[in-house]
Amino acid sequence: MDLIITNANILTLDDEDRILFGSVLVEDGIIKEIGRVRTDNKKKVYRVLDAEGAFLLPGFVQTHVHTGQTLFRGMADDVELLDWLNKYIWPLEAAHNERSVYESARLSILEMIASGTTTFLDIGLVHNTESILRALSESGARGVICKMLMDGDGIPKGLAQDNSESLSEIRFLKEKYHRGCNGRIMIGVGPRFALSSRERSLVEAAEFARGEGLIITTHSSENIKEVLSIRDRFGLSNIAFLNKCGVLGENSVIAHCIWLEPSDLEILKDSGTSVAHCPSANLKLASGFARVPEMLKYGIEVTLGADGAPCNNNLNMFNELRLAALIHKPRTGPVNMNAKTVLRMATIGGARALGLDSEIGSIEIGKRADLIVVNNRGIHTNPVDNIYSTIVYSSMGSDVSCVVVDGNIIYQNGTHYLWDLDEIVRKSNEEKGRLLKRL
Ligand SMILES: [Zn+2]
Repeated sequence: MDLIITNANILTLDDEDRILFGSVLVEDGIIKEIGRVRTDNKKKVYRVLDAEGAFLLPGFVQTHVHTGQTLFRGMADDVELLDWLNKYIWPLEAAHNERSVYESARLSILEMIASGTTTFLDIGLVHNTESILRALSESGARGVICKMLMDGDGIPKGLAQDNSESLSEIRFLKEKYHRGCNGRIMIGVGPRFALSSRERSLVEAAEFARGEGLIITTHSSENIKEVLSIRDRFGLSNIAFLNKCGVLGENSVIAHCIWLEPSDLEILKDSGTSVAHCPSANLKLASGFARVPEMLKYGIEVTLGADGAPCNNNLNMFNELRLAALIHKPRTGPVNMNAKTVLRMATIGGARALGLDSEIGSIEIGKRADLIVVNNRGIHTNPVDNIYSTIVYSSMGSDVSCVVVDGNIIYQNGTHYLWDLDEIVRKSNEEKGRLLKRL
């Protein structure tokens, strides 16, 4: 059924950044009218959703998450990145099976939807990618699911995979799933980071992604030891090394980019690469402060992501909005990273990074209807003055009262229309227990 959302304070997040009061009319998943919408002259039957004055904005687009890690929430706290990976995350990922990945993905996607994320880029896992794809297709949300590549030295046995085998699996996944579910599902290529892939494999992965028209994503320059080790091994900065391998480009999203060398900004800009800034994870792993205001000034597309549950420990975009706006101010002044800039990073910026800005990321006629209603009647958000400020500095994930993806209401007032929330929580705990026994 087609949909009209009425009585909304609409934040378009389009080029004009309009705020309108009125309605959004959706037919066949596409936004057809915005503002003053008349229905008395129309023959169709519409489902009417009265927003009662709440904010209506495009769903958030997260450009860096690990849905496969959510079962490990709270299991690797207060440790440094390389220990975090080697001692905790890799052994846990290696213990996953089809069922545990499926429950981890369901819990992740449900948490994201309930806090307003409608599209996400998941760097994925080495194995059981189809379990994540199954969860995504059932959820009603939109996403780019990567298969992770790991074939360097010192990778645990359960995670290392020959690169040609990995790429042929991605080709299979692309043929079976890419642009399935009315275009909601996309496949991507996810080499974990420079130290966990052979140089030749990075070159092959980059050529493959470009040839197939897929997103490629990886972590880079997250940690000082990581960048020093790459300089030691290859004589280049992490970013220059990825560029040499062909990994950077308009189809490339690089997570973190904290420990950049001055010439790296130029490389990122010239190659058209997007950056995924993950402020919670960067603080929790004590990785450092990415120079986001400088990157934005340079014209680099910087977007936002929650990263993984074990290094955040939430997948709630409101946390990232608030932190992204706050943490750079002590160094660069209060004017930088204002609320509107940060909200654009979380919506249209993310859509551009994923090459989806002609379809989603703003409320514009002709775009797919991926929309969220954010309640503005909370004690913590009143009085409302500037709507951008309210959303970035005051609102919380629990203020999201309705989530629409592709024109379908998938979540409303604490209920997911396709999933049983209690069952997902129970099963994720059960699968975590079974996974721990396999360690
Ligand atoms: Zn990550």
